Amino acid sequence: MRALGVFPVERAVRLVTRDSPAIAAPTDVRLRVIDVGVCGTDREICRFDFGTPPAGSDYLVLGHECVAEVVEVGAAVRDVVPGDLVVPAVRRPCPHDTCSPCRTGRQDYCHTGDFVEHGIKGRHGFLAEEVVEDARYLHRVPSGLRDVAVLVEPLTIAEKALTQVRQVRERLGERAGHTALVSGAGPVGLLSAMVLAAAGFEAHVWSLEPESDPKAGLIRSLGIGYTSTSRASLEEVGARLGNVDVLFEATGAPPVTFQALAALGHNGVLVLLGLPGRPSALEVDAAAVVRTLVLRNQVVIGSINAGDDAFEAATHDLAAFESRWPGALGRLITGRFPLDAHDEVLRGEPRGIKNVIHVS
Ligand code: BGC
Repeated sequence: MRALGVFPVERAVRLVTRDSPAIAAPTDVRLRVIDVGVCGTDREICRFDFGTPPAGSDYLVLGHECVAEVVEVGAAVRDVVPGDLVVPAVRRPCPHDTCSPCRTGRQDYCHTGDFVEHGIKGRHGFLAEEVVEDARYLHRVPSGLRDVAVLVEPLTIAEKALTQVRQVRERLGERAGHTALVSGAGPVGLLSAMVLAAAGFEAHVWSLEPESDPKAGLIRSLGIGYTSTSRASLEEVGARLGNVDVLFEATGAPPVTFQALAALGHNGVLVLLGLPGRPSALEVDAAAVVRTLVLRNQVVIGSINAGDDAFEAATHDLAAFESRWPGALGRLITGRFPLDAHDEVLRGEPRGIKNVIHVS
């Protein structure tokens, strides 16, 4: 079968031929991969900035945003049957007894750093015609979501963030305000704005695209506000909105984090979702930053990866988004490409919102 390999030492990305995987354990499930989404992490891996092949392999099979169809199940598998659609989780636990998150199924909170991630760190990914996966890491999705289910994994990032925001906001109970700002209109930013709007927040997005950009039009058509960076700073947008209660930072640009802190209101929660790549030196008035954090009871959360609850919430919300905003999710998927077009999608100029490689 064909798979897409990233060779970090050789600095090459090319299709490889691999043996089709077979069921080896009673809890294994064999999957036919349908769609794999491409995100910034994948593009960084293809620039060799990031990404680790499994031990003993000179390449890493790429791909972590996946929707697949079950073709065969091991003898002990009860939760899925052939024909079901599933989305696999990305991260697998570290081996250490002392890591209680990993030992209790919350490897997204692993504290040793020795976890592995499909298509990213130490484990082959899903950009292959077939994969075998343990049933415990598969999340079933309704067949009606087939065309958009590739958005489940990026949506889990926003869901995990919202869960943590809710936990912090419990300190305020009914007193918590409902103004939310999102910086960055990539897939995670857009899905975050949708999650926040669906959760009852007045959501607003601030991003690079001009206000005439189709992306801005799409955002406004969802009843979500939009301001271009060329029109106003993040702080100005925050001031206009009133007290920013929640801010999701989804650009991953370190200076924006500090702008977000300046825009955040009293009792506000800032969630950092973007992962900066290169070093970024910055001069900041540290006293002002700390003063504001303390005086305003603010909380900053860094959030990565997601647990089972986020996969369930994402699957539920995708269906809810489809009925609340018919067709909108389909508009987030701006390109579907065959595996042969991997170079254009992964190493060409970034374009559209979410590009997907349609494997089979
Ligand atoms: C994925 C996460 C993963 C992170 C870091 C992101 O693109 O969505 O699941 O934990 O990369 O490797």
